[in-house]
Amino acid sequence: MNPGRKTTAGDDLVQRLEQAETALQARELNFQLIVDSIPAQVAVIAPNGEVETLNQPCLEYFGKTLGELKGWASSDPVHPEDLPHVIEVLTHALKTGQTYEVEARHRRYDGVYRWFHARGFPLKDIDGRILRWCVLLTDIDDRKRAEAQLAGEKRLLEMVASGADLTEVLTELCKFVENTAADCTCGIYLIDWRTTTFRLGAAPSLPASFNDPVEGLTVTPDAGPCGAAALTKSQVIATDIEADPRFQSATIRPLLLAHGLRSHWSTPIFSRNGEVLGTFAIFQNHPSSPTQLQQDLISQVTHIASIAIERALSEEELRRSEAFLAEGQYLGRMGNFLWVIATNQITWSEPMYRIFEFDPGITMTLELIASRVHPDDMPMIHDMVERAERGVSDFEYEHRILMPDGSVKYLHLIAHRTREEHGGPEYIGAVQDVTQRHLSEEALSKARSELARVARVMSLGALTASIAHEVNQPLSGIITNASTCVRMLDGDPPNVDGARETAKRTIRDGRRAADVITRLRALFSKKEAVTELVDLNEATREVMALSRSELERNRVILRTELAEELPLVRGDRVQLQQVIINLLRNGSDAMSTVGDRPRELLFKTEVEEGNYVRVSVHDAGTGFEPHAMDRLFQSFYTTKDVGMGIGLSVSRSIIESHRGRMWATPNDGPGVTFSFSIPCLVDRPG
Ligand code: ADP
Repeated sequence: MNPGRKTTAGDDLVQRLEQAETALQARELNFQLIVDSIPAQVAVIAPNGEVETLNQPCLEYFGKTLGELKGWASSDPVHPEDLPHVIEVLTHALKTGQTYEVEARHRRYDGVYRWFHARGFPLKDIDGRILRWCVLLTDIDDRKRAEAQLAGEKRLLEMVASGADLTEVLTELCKFVENTAADCTCGIYLIDWRTTTFRLGAAPSLPASFNDPVEGLTVTPDAGPCGAAALTKSQVIATDIEADPRFQSATIRPLLLAHGLRSHWSTPIFSRNGEVLGTFAIFQNHPSSPTQLQQDLISQVTHIASIAIERALSEEELRRSEAFLAEGQYLGRMGNFLWVIATNQITWSEPMYRIFEFDPGITMTLELIASRVHPDDMPMIHDMVERAERGVSDFEYEHRILMPDGSVKYLHLIAHRTREEHGGPEYIGAVQDVTQRHLSEEALSKARSELARVARVMSLGALTASIAHEVNQPLSGIITNASTCVRMLDGDPPNVDGARETAKRTIRDGRRAADVITRLRALFSKKEAVTELVDLNEATREVMALSRSELERNRVILRTELAEELPLVRGDRVQLQQVIINLLRNGSDAMSTVGDRPRELLFKTEVEEGNYVRVSVHDAGTGFEPHAMDRLFQSFYTTKDVGMGIGLSVSRSIIESHRGRMWATPNDGPGVTFSFSIPCLVDRPG
């Protein structure tokens, strides 16, 4: 209907039509008024898609006339990237007559595009015909930006969480800011506080000619806004670096200007405990200061950067400490394991596989471990499993494993029960390959035995005279008795009873000589250390018996105070007797010049507290100077003309190998007392 078209039918009709037109115009005006007074942007579109009306807020936003905007589809009010979609949605709506919604960027009067949500709905007459489309345009730019920021933030945090490389994360952060707050360039600079220098974190949009000189720059206030921000721990805004009096001589200034950058804002990136990890810089090619929006973006970015940097640092730290641990384990020939009892799940560290010589990564089972255990040590494995099942809190074993090439390794295992995270007890343990130590201990023990034997031969050499005497005595007895016996048998009548008696004495003397020889053989023989039960009283008595003649010759009076029911000790009898002989001879030697008092040597045995047996030899000799005390037990320390100075050092090492100790104390009166004590059995076996 065209209200401007008139008919020539009667005045009445003309008048009625004019009235109708006036009414219609009034309604149109009313409609326009209503549309204009809506505070949002409204567009009215004809059913054929032509723009009919745009309200005032709409015209103001676009800064164009209605006439100019009628051709929106072929000019720039809608962002070219969004235009095809808008046309498609509108065409479809016009065809179907259904309400539509579409989002697109609209160009503001100043050229800035903002996001709008358009909702078009048809206005129909009573017959349902579409008269017009009313389109409501809502500015959703803030929401869109927030959504984009949120999505960006989420993506970046996901990158951090998935362990992406730090440079990659920081690069994305810079790009995110550059895309969100157009018209700026970003850089993230890390600080190495050990050298107080900057390291380039990321600056993807800046050329190498800018980035390279920044790398390794010293963190000082003179460096520029980043240096100042890092040291003052606060944001530094240089609106115009060219004019800013603070940065006239800053290192960064000529670099910025050479690259056409004027404003430089730097914000410190803090760690959780307030240390500056680096700085985040925004550059613009014209003087400017940050808007609230940009400030929000900066705090968002520095927060994410802080998480990413801290994570990278702690990962680096973790890698270092893992490497440190692995190196330590390698050097210590050590490995560790986790054993979940309920599931029999065993987790091994890499060095464990190396010790057991299994392929790294194969699933470890008790059966597999047992296949390596030395057959003689299998009971130990069974014992360990049984104790673990009982829930014993700690255990420690030394056992051997037999390698496929037949070699044997000695292992020391310790394990401790820990938190029961998997619903049952689990053990954390460590295994150390102690083969080397074991072999050197064996070698040491052999060397000690050999040395002890040498020392024994030497000290027994001095006893030769007494031995000769010991043997000589029964021998001459035998000869005397034998001739007496012959004489008695030659008598007339032969004295058979007397001869029998003398023959018996001959046998006794023969046995005595044999005994002496046996004891000497035992002391001279080359034997490795053996462990047996030893009665130290008996051992002492034997030594005294062997040395009696020599002591008598030296006019030494032997006294004993041997404890009754002395508990037995476990050890090497010959070695222990060697120690006693040394003490006896030293005591005798120390009294060889004593003439003003009895040369008395007292042997004492007693039980010490804590299940130890003590043997002490108390002499009345010359004693030693106080300063000599520390040196007595050193090898080759001697004050004797013919001494070797190894008796006491060998003796002490023998006692220590018996888990005991040896010492000397000056007597209250003349002489010294040498003592040793070694652990004894609690109960004397019956
Ligand atoms: P050696 O008897 O060959 O000298 P030892 O190791 O047995 O070697 O003794 C080292 C030194 O300790 C002796 O030379 C002596 O000076 C001192 N010594 C050992 N026993 C006594 C003692 N009972 N009284 C005084 N000095 C002693």
